[in-house]
Amino acid sequence: MNELLRKTATEQSKALKNKEISAVELTEAAFKRIDDLEDKLGAFNSLTKETALNTAKKVDEKIAKGEELPLLAGIPLALKDNMNLVGSKTTASSKILENFVSPFNATITQKLLDNLIPIVGKANLDEFAMGSSNENSAFKKVHNPWNLNKVPGGSSGGSAASVASCEATLALGSDTGGSIRLPASFCGIVGMKPTYGRVSRYGLIAFASSLDQIGPFARSVEDAANLLEVISGHDPKDSTSLNLPVEHYAASLKDDIKGKKVGVIKELMSEGLSDDVAKAMEDAIETYKKLGCEIVEISLPKLKYSIGIYYILATAECSSNLARFDGVRYGYRTPGAKNILEMYTKTRAEGFGPEVKRRIMLGTYALSSGYYDAYYKKAQQMRALVTEDFREAFKKVDVLISPTCPNTAFDLGAKASDPLQMYLTDIATISANLAGIPGLSVPAGFDKDGMPIGLQVLAPQLQESKLFNMAYQFEQAHDYWKQLANI
Ligand code: GLN
Repeated sequence: MNELLRKTATEQSKALKNKEISAVELTEAAFKRIDDLEDKLGAFNSLTKETALNTAKKVDEKIAKGEELPLLAGIPLALKDNMNLVGSKTTASSKILENFVSPFNATITQKLLDNLIPIVGKANLDEFAMGSSNENSAFKKVHNPWNLNKVPGGSSGGSAASVASCEATLALGSDTGGSIRLPASFCGIVGMKPTYGRVSRYGLIAFASSLDQIGPFARSVEDAANLLEVISGHDPKDSTSLNLPVEHYAASLKDDIKGKKVGVIKELMSEGLSDDVAKAMEDAIETYKKLGCEIVEISLPKLKYSIGIYYILATAECSSNLARFDGVRYGYRTPGAKNILEMYTKTRAEGFGPEVKRRIMLGTYALSSGYYDAYYKKAQQMRALVTEDFREAFKKVDVLISPTCPNTAFDLGAKASDPLQMYLTDIATISANLAGIPGLSVPAGFDKDGMPIGLQVLAPQLQESKLFNMAYQFEQAHDYWKQLANI
């Protein structure tokens, strides 16, 4: 493997500018790495070689002419396969979209192309981003690069595994209840969910529109900050996108954090925490103390309801969003149905996997007349109270910390037959989506089996710069982030 692939995007950018390697060579090296590993990892649903190499060529032309390069130009990136890239398949890892070719680019994809970032392929995910282990893909499971018998986390498991194994240097994922932060923590990398509305969702296949947000994966906080800068911004095509200027998020990474207040979420520090994760959290608290921060215990009393709230709201929204996959407009259509009703029902019965069907049924139930007030409306009211908990907390502290997950990556198959156990994996991440606040997972150590542990850092809405600053200072105090999976 080309050693440069192990480096961060910042270092790779330098190597490109210094002409130690060309962008085409770097992209080809990434494809070679993918060829070597894909049988074991399953991180990609498809590769987009032509697009990637064309982009890399443009980077090399600019370098030859001595022109200024856009941020992250030439750095190989994996795109979660629920985001549209013109001319490539966008499957959402579902049979129903198995042969769907994107007719347009997502706004974030266009931004990547404008910045000359080679998109090497479409990363595997849980079907329609529903899951926490990437075992719900209709095509193949993703394996964790640190231990191939373990899950990479989900739903953006392919994105995380590709970056952790150096198949790609960067990746994009989507996070509805933790799907960026959880796989980042299981794979020992940085994953970040921005403030709701910071990044356009146009061209992302919608799961739960009031919760979905696209965000970066990288092997360093600095790279994640830079990638967020590239994809952020107002988009008239997404009415929920915020019309606010984009910051240069990496500018404040090195700011001193002495005197900052770090809140430790009480409810996430006790129950169900594995010993190794509990120890890593103690160490994280010590690190922040050494960096001069004040540690404050914070209680979020409504947090315990967040999984219940989420599984009503997210399923309700998905039952509506997925109504469009009916055999008429997109993707798969059942052959030989006798009438239109049979065509709809058979198409959906054959096209969707079991978890997606479970969610559609739960959501339809929660929205049906007679149950709407008892479930959907109540969940909306509770969501407001969870948000209020955070608002109160952020009056007292700058950021909140917790484990990203109470445990490290589990064995493939361990939770696959128990949906409730799987849902509980997201206990620490889901509430940030309900409140629309930014959060990230940064490497914070290893368990006794050598599997990565993630520290979650949460900040108030639109305080991404502070979030990256606090995470960067933690990251740089250790060398966990420099350790790579031995694959
Ligand atoms: N694991 C959660 C779910 O299954 C979150 C998924 C996500 O963030 N896309 O819904």
